[in-house]
Amino acid sequence: MSDLDSFRTSTRAWLETNCPASMRTPIVEDETPWGGRNFDPPNPDVKTWMDRMGARGWTVPTWPKEYGGGGLSNDEAKILAEEMRRINARPALISFGIWMFGPVLMEFGNEEQKREYLPQIARGEIRWCQGYSEPGAGSDLAGLQTRCEDKGDHYLINGQKVWTSYADRADWIFCLVRTDTSKKQAGISFILFDMKSPGVDPRPIKLISGSSPFCEVFFTDVKVPKKNRVGALNGGWEIAKRLLQYERKNISSGGFGAGTSVEELARKYIGLKDGILADTDLRGRLAAHKMDAHAFALTVARSDQDARSGKDVGPTTSILKFAAAKINQERRELSVEAMGLAGLGWEGPGFDADALLETRAWLRSKGNSIEGGTSEINLNVLSKRVLGLPE
Ligand SMILES: Cc1cc2nc3c(=O)[nH]c(=O)nc-3n(C[C@H](O)[C@H](O)[C@H](O)COP(=O)(O)OP(=O)(O)OC[C@H]3O[C@@H](n4cnc5c(N)ncnc54)[C@H](O)[C@@H]3O)c2cc1C
Repeated sequence: MSDLDSFRTSTRAWLETNCPASMRTPIVEDETPWGGRNFDPPNPDVKTWMDRMGARGWTVPTWPKEYGGGGLSNDEAKILAEEMRRINARPALISFGIWMFGPVLMEFGNEEQKREYLPQIARGEIRWCQGYSEPGAGSDLAGLQTRCEDKGDHYLINGQKVWTSYADRADWIFCLVRTDTSKKQAGISFILFDMKSPGVDPRPIKLISGSSPFCEVFFTDVKVPKKNRVGALNGGWEIAKRLLQYERKNISSGGFGAGTSVEELARKYIGLKDGILADTDLRGRLAAHKMDAHAFALTVARSDQDARSGKDVGPTTSILKFAAAKINQERRELSVEAMGLAGLGWEGPGFDADALLETRAWLRSKGNSIEGGTSEINLNVLSKRVLGLPE
């Protein structure tokens, strides 16, 4: 038996013993495994599964063992993913730490920072949020104004962030701050701090979809130890851009897309005639959408494979993010169209709970072409950094 075969056998046995039965079903609301200091899901299996996988380093299978990872080779990680899919295992941990902050800390952090934060990310002990956007700095991110002053033995931070997803539930923030007002990109630093620090005030903002996962965050005289700066003073812009590449890659690889498929909705609300969808116009558009979505899924799978075989993320992630947003928005538009009047409900009698979820998912999808960099900005990155077109 080859090494990989015996790895598969032992992995399968371990998963059989350690993955609770309720973690072999699709994730339901309130059971998203975000982790963090206060993580207390209604179903205790969520935490058990996270703890077991975290202790083994399998929440981040290819990270080095000394940083809390599983130390697996790319081939072993692929087998683990296949074996998890075989039993429909849920991801044990979903986290901004894994998706975007961990990989850049691995690249830009010093040894002390890596040993401190990476294992906690792997075990789901700290939940992170992303302090990038400000009221005057979204697409023009380098225009950010949050001030970070050197006070000798610490930094003092004053300013405001906005659209900070889950800021009210996160334990720590990775944050872009201005450390030099005389330069734009070259005056930005990348800094980490505890959201419980005195002077940090997150205030939820309501979204069009009804739920409120994000906040504006105010900083008033927040004291931050100097050792919490990642990378060089005024060297944060390189780190910021790299993190966005990871963010865009991860959004594309599965950030959108839960819920009932369009074809199931169409079958349920429109019905079939002679074995095919009764609305021929919608049928044509739905088929075109499914072809685009399938081609996109194959492209994402190819890019995931590249990543597993060690190829770096780069500006091409902008293409994936642009396409992911477009395809999910098309899907949600087709869904509410197929549902007809049932797709117009907000709450109350006459609308079933599944239909309401679809309507809210359609509203939520409006943000897909904004979050992680707008579609226009991603097309700009594509034209400049991938196609090499002039400014
Ligand atoms: C669901 C969601 C979650 C988010 N989570 C976070 C988070 O956790 N942390 C965080 O920091 N931010 C977060 N954001 C903010 C997001 O990154 C910004 O909204 C985004 O970068 C756009 O910035 P803006 O809203 O200021 O829009 P603007 O930058 O004001 O853009 C307005 C419009 O002008 C267009 N535009 C601007 N500049 C150009 C240009 N040069 N060329 C062409 N068109 C241009 C844009 O494409 C857009 O259509 C989130 C946003 C959403 C919707």
